[in-house]
Parts: sequence; structure tokens; C-alpha cells
Amino acid sequence: MALKKFDYIIVGGGSSGCVVANRLSEDPGVRVLLIESGRRDADRWINIPATFFKVIEKGRDIVAYVGEPSKHLNGRPAIVVQGHVLGGGSSVNAMIYVRGQSQDYDGWAQDGNRGWSYSDVLPVFRDLENNMQLAGEYHGTSGELHVSETGFHHPLSRAFIRAAQETGIPYNPDFNGALQEGVGFYQTTTRDGRRWSAAQAFLRPAEKRGNLTVLTETRVARVTFQGNRTTGVQLENSTTYEAGGEVILCAGRSRPPDCYSFQAWGPRNIYASTGSPWWLTSPASAKTTRTIWNRQSRARRSIRSPSSARTRA
Ligand SMILES: Cc1cc2nc3c(=O)[nH]c(=O)nc-3n(C[C@H](O)[C@H](O)[C@H](O)COP(=O)(O)OP(=O)(O)OC[C@H]3O[C@@H](n4cnc5c(N)ncnc54)[C@H](O)[C@@H]3O)c2cc1C
Repeated sequence: MALKKFDYIIVGGGSSGCVVANRLSEDPGVRVLLIESGRRDADRWINIPATFFKVIEKGRDIVAYVGEPSKHLNGRPAIVVQGHVLGGGSSVNAMIYVRGQSQDYDGWAQDGNRGWSYSDVLPVFRDLENNMQLAGEYHGTSGELHVSETGFHHPLSRAFIRAAQETGIPYNPDFNGALQEGVGFYQTTTRDGRRWSAAQAFLRPAEKRGNLTVLTETRVARVTFQGNRTTGVQLENSTTYEAGGEVILCAGRSRPPDCYSFQAWGPRNIYASTGSPWWLTSPASAKTTRTIWNRQSRARRSIRSPSSARTRA
């Protein structure tokens, strides 16, 4: 009989899920289950950086959420795309390596989220990264995530960058350094000319360990609870898996995410009108969630509820 009890269950095998699966399964004493609703990342077009648009076009490994037509978009609907494949967004994205503004992290920490300040996350970024060119305070050179310089710069791109500088925009050789502002060439999450997704970087090595089970084309329908304590997950086909330790939600947040539609996690006010059961989050993470939602509100406001969203898979 297949194993039904694990120490950790990770919902979603995207960018974050692959990292978490890798780090948790480093301990041979724990059993880890990773559940991904998409298929394995075997499509050859995924690995060739220049053909990522084919992956998007084919639509097999993405889900596209189409909003209502919006006056803010000249009557067009907003379309939000999410990876739906092992590696998640990192298997279908544009591979641009930009980690985000330090102020964002510090803002989240100020909201009360312990461990999320820039000085907290920077060592973690460095630990994950294997940068082919940059080193020092902001970059790692021995992690699993290969980061490369782009091999070819089109003359028009060079002209654009020079023109921007002539207007007074500073040249920035590193968008993950001290300052994000400026114009320049970004680095990519590629290795030797191939996409280096989180699945390649973190899951492939972890899959060789005997304590990690990966299920693909398997959708989690809900997280199960006993009181306020998580006990495991239930799949769409009603199969249940028990978590002795933790259930870790890595199902993405490109839309009202699945981990919300599971049972409405997060700020209570978002669910007040839905009648969904609501599970508490800390006030700090609720505030941060609200901030993130607000920042994306123009697109998000026009997104239909998950039940009425048109999906393409
Ligand atoms: C087209 C595109 C281009 C992008 N370009 C860039 C870029 O150039 N640079 C950059 O930094 N970022 C880019 N991004 C964003 C980046 O890829 C995401 O921010 C990142 O992948 C999010 O990681 P995540 O782990 O939160 O979620 P995801 O990577 O989206 O992973 C979530 C996973 O959960 C799975 N899942 C969802 N619901 C369930 C369920 N109920 N049961 C089981 N599994 C489930 C999904 O199938 C998915 O694989 C891009 C994204 C897209 C879609």
C-alpha cells in the first residue's frame, strides 16, 4: 500500500515548493511529500530559453486567468498566467534574475513578519545562488541556482541603454546589488545556455533521495484540520495524506491562490463576503498579504472568482 503518512507535505511543486522539498529532504530522518497539480517538466521547449514563448503559446503547462474587461486597460481584460508544471513559474518564466527591492522586505518585517527583513533574506539568497560573474555581499557562488550573464546583446539593446543614460538614468550593472534603480542588462537563471528552473536546480538532486515522494498531475482540494491544527491534505479524488509535522503551502499567488480557495486563509475581510470558512493567520502576515494584494489590485480587482475564472491548461 502506498505511503499515506509523511512528516512534511508540500502543496505545489513550483519555484518555492522545489526549494522547500530540497531543504527538508536533506534530513534523511524525515519523509517529505511534494504534490504538484501540473505534469512533469519534460517538454523540450521548457529548457531552451528562446522557446519559452512556445510553452506559453501551447498552454499545456500554464494556467491563464482572464479577468473582466477593465476601463484601466482600455476595455481589455487582464490576463494572469501561472506555471502549471513541475518547477511552476520557474519552468515557464522569462528567467530574469531580479530578487526585489530591499525596502519591500524591510516593509514586511516592519509589519511584524519575523525573518523577512532584507538582512534576514539576503544570506538565504546568497546560499541558493551560483552566480557565474558576480560575487561579494549580494551574491552567492556555490548554491544550486545557476545565474548567468546573457551571452548576446543586440546592438539596439546597447543603443537603448546608452540612450537611457543620456537622459540621466544611471547605468546599473547589478539589479540585485545595493540599488535596483537604473538601466542595464539583467542576468538570467540559466546554465550553459539552458533554463535553470527550480526543478532543475533543487528538485532533481532531491529526487535521488529516498525520503522524498513527488506526485504530479495531482491536485490538492483542501487542507485538513483538527481544531486549529493542520493534519494533512485531501486530494480532489478524496484520497487523504496525513502530515505528522507540517503542511507547507507553495501553490503560488498569481491569482486568488489555491491555498486561499482551499479554505480561505489570510485576512478575514477578503473572505467576509464569500461565506468561506476562515482560518487564522498572524496579524502581521495578514497585513502583508493585504499589502501585496493592494499592490496588484488593478489586475486583481478585475479577476473573477476562481470558480468563474476561465482556465486554460
Ligand atoms: C509567464 C511568466 C513569466 C515570468 N517571468 C519572470 C521572470 O522573468 N523573472 C522572475 O523573477 N519571475 C518571473 N515570473 C514570476 C515567477 O516565475 C513567480 O513569481 C514564481 O515562480 C512564483 O513561485 P511560487 O513558488 O510562489 O509559485 P509557482 O511557481 O507558481 O508554483 C505554484 C505551483 O503550485 C501548483 N499548484 C497550484 N494549485 C495546486 C493544487 N491545488 N494542488 C497541487 N499543486 C498546485 C501549480 O501548478 C504550480 O506549479 C514569471 C511568471 C510567469 C507565469
